[in-house]
Amino acid sequence: MSCKKTYITTPIYYVNDVAHIGHAYTTIIADAVSRYSKLLGYDTFLLTGTDEHGQKIEQSAKSRGKSPQEYADEISKTFRDLWDDFGIEYDHFIRTTDDYHKDGVQKAFQKMFDKGDIYKDTYSGNYCVSCESFFTDTQLIDGSGCPDCGKETSVIEEESYFFRLSKYQDWLLEHYRDNPDFILPSAKRNEVISFVEGGLKDLSITRTSFDWGVHLPESMNEPKHVMYVWLDALLNYVTALGYGNGEEKMDYWPAKVHIVGKDILRFHAIYWPAFLMSLELPLPDHIGAHGWWTRDGQKMSKSIGNVVKPREVVDAYGIDTFRYFLLREVPFGQDGDFSEKALINRINGDLGNSLGNLLNRVIGMSGKYFDSKFESDSDLFTNDMNRVHEIIAGLESHIFKMQIHRYLEDIWEILAIGNRAIQSSEPWVKIKTAPEDVQALLVFVSNLLTKVAILISPIMPKSGEEMAKSLGIEINEDTYKEFITDQALLNSFVIEKVSALFPKVDKPLMAQPEVEEKQGEADTEPELELPEDGLITIDKFFETTIKIGEVVEVEEIKKSKKLYKLRVDLGEARPRQIIAGIREFYSKEELQNSLVCVVANLKPAKLMGNLSEGMLLAAKDENGLSLIRPEHKRKIGTKIS
Ligand SMILES: [Zn+2]
Repeated sequence: MSCKKTYITTPIYYVNDVAHIGHAYTTIIADAVSRYSKLLGYDTFLLTGTDEHGQKIEQSAKSRGKSPQEYADEISKTFRDLWDDFGIEYDHFIRTTDDYHKDGVQKAFQKMFDKGDIYKDTYSGNYCVSCESFFTDTQLIDGSGCPDCGKETSVIEEESYFFRLSKYQDWLLEHYRDNPDFILPSAKRNEVISFVEGGLKDLSITRTSFDWGVHLPESMNEPKHVMYVWLDALLNYVTALGYGNGEEKMDYWPAKVHIVGKDILRFHAIYWPAFLMSLELPLPDHIGAHGWWTRDGQKMSKSIGNVVKPREVVDAYGIDTFRYFLLREVPFGQDGDFSEKALINRINGDLGNSLGNLLNRVIGMSGKYFDSKFESDSDLFTNDMNRVHEIIAGLESHIFKMQIHRYLEDIWEILAIGNRAIQSSEPWVKIKTAPEDVQALLVFVSNLLTKVAILISPIMPKSGEEMAKSLGIEINEDTYKEFITDQALLNSFVIEKVSALFPKVDKPLMAQPEVEEKQGEADTEPELELPEDGLITIDKFFETTIKIGEVVEVEEIKKSKKLYKLRVDLGEARPRQIIAGIREFYSKEELQNSLVCVVANLKPAKLMGNLSEGMLLAAKDENGLSLIRPEHKRKIGTKIS
C-alpha cells in the first residue's frame, strides 16, 4: 500500500453569507477527490473551514447588534452543520479566528518581514468596502464603481505594509511555464499568465481602517495595523497543518490541489504562490478553478430570491443525486446551470435507466432463474471485460486533473457495455436453450457492476455502498486494489435484493422559489405576464386595417360637449366622416390638417344621429387623452402594421 500524502482543500468560506450551491459544489468536488484518493490508499487530508475576518464581517455583525466573534461563530456553524449533514468527510475544519491560525499567520508575517519582502509605505487607492479590495483607476466602472460588485468605491489613503509581489513576477511566470498543469483548466491558466505579464504591483497587506483581523506580531509594535484578509485567509492552508505552531502535519504539504471558484483564482494562482516562495515553502501541485452556477438560465441573486439552497435540493432529491448532478452536468471550469428539470433528467436517465436498471436486471434475472446464486468460468464475455478494463485504466488521471465529468462519462460507457450485453444475449430466450450462457452473462454483468460500485463510491457514497451490498462485496482500499488496479474477477455471486436505487421522479419535488420583484434591484428583467387565453395570432391582428389619415375639416356637434364631426382624408374617393369624442382634449385648430391613425374597416355606426365611418386611435389615462399619431409625416392612406 502506498502511503503517499495527499492534501486537498476547499477555500475557507467567508462568513458574510450562508451556503449556496457554489459552496456546495466546491466542497463536493473536494470531497469526491479526497474519497477517491483514500480509495487509492493514499494518506489523504481534506481541509475546509471559514474565513472570518475583515471589515465586512465587522460591519455585518454591528448591523445585527452582535460582536464580530458571535456573528462569525453563528455563520461558521451553519457551514459546518451543512457539511456534516451532507456527509462530507473533511479531516479538519479551520476557522481563521482560531488561535493556532492567528499564531501561524503572525509567524509567517515575521518571516516575510525579516526576509525583506515586507516594507512600510502609504497606500492610496480606490477601495471597495464590500469586496475589501483596492482597484486601479482603469479597473473602475464609470470612474468610481467597483468592477466586481458595482458598488461605489472610495479613495482611501492610509499607512500600510506592502508585500514585494513585484519581486516574484518572473519566478511566477517561470513556474507557470514549467508546470503547465499548475492552473486547471488551461483556459484559466492563460488568463493568469497574461495578468502577471501585465506587471505586478506590490501588495498592500495591512489596514488601519478597521480592527477585526489578525494583528501584526507584537514585536513590530504596530497596534493599529491588522492584516489584509487575503494574507490571513490564504495562510490557512498551512496553519491548518501546524505551520509556525508545532508543524506536526506539515508533511502533508504541498497540497495536491486547492479547489477554488474562478472569482478567487487570482488570489490563489498569483498571491498565494508568491507568499509561499517568500516563506520558502514548495508550491501546490494544482489550483483548480471552477465556474459559477445560474438557476434556470438566470443569474442567482438574493434580491431576485432564486438562490439555490443546497439543503432544499438534498431534502427533496437526496445527497447522492445532487452530488452526481453537480459533478456530471458541467465540465470543470465552465459555468453551469441548475434547474430541477435537468436534475430530474439526470435522475431518470443516467441514474435510473442506466445504472439503477442494470443492477435491477441482475437482481431480477438471477432471482427468477437461479435463486439469486450463479457461477460461471466461461470466457464468453472476455472481450467485453477487456474493454471495461481499458476504460478503467484511463480513469485515475481524470480525477486529479479535475475532469470528473469525464470520469463519469467513462463509467457510463462501462454501464452501456453491460446493458448492451444483456440486450444482445437475449437471456429471456437463452434461459431455455443455454442456461449456462445466462449464468456467464450474469457473472460478467455482476463483475462489471462490482467495479462500477467501487468507482462511483467517491461520487455517490451511499449508492456505491448499496450496490456493493447487493453484490456481496465491500468498498475499501483493498477491494479497490483487487478489482480495479489488479483487475480481479469473481466466478460466482450471491445477489441480495435491494430496493430500486433511483426511483423515477415524475414531477418536481422542490418548493418553487418565491421570486420577489423589487423594482430597480432585480438583476434580470422580470418575465412578462401574458394573458393566457386572450392571445391572438398575427393574422387575427391584420384583420384590422389601420391607416394614416389627415384631418381636413373639424365641426362641432351641437348638443354634444364631447363630440367633433371630422372629415378625414384616407386617400380614398372622398374624405370619411368620423365622429370622435375628443372635443374636451383638442381644439379645432390643433386638429385641422393634422395626421391621425384611423381604423378603416370598422362597420359604420351612427353617433348622436351622425354616421361615423371609422375610428381614431387614442390613449387615455388620468392625465387626459392623446391621439396616436405617426412620429414622422407619412403619406395619407399608408397602412399601419
Ligand atoms: Zn466591490
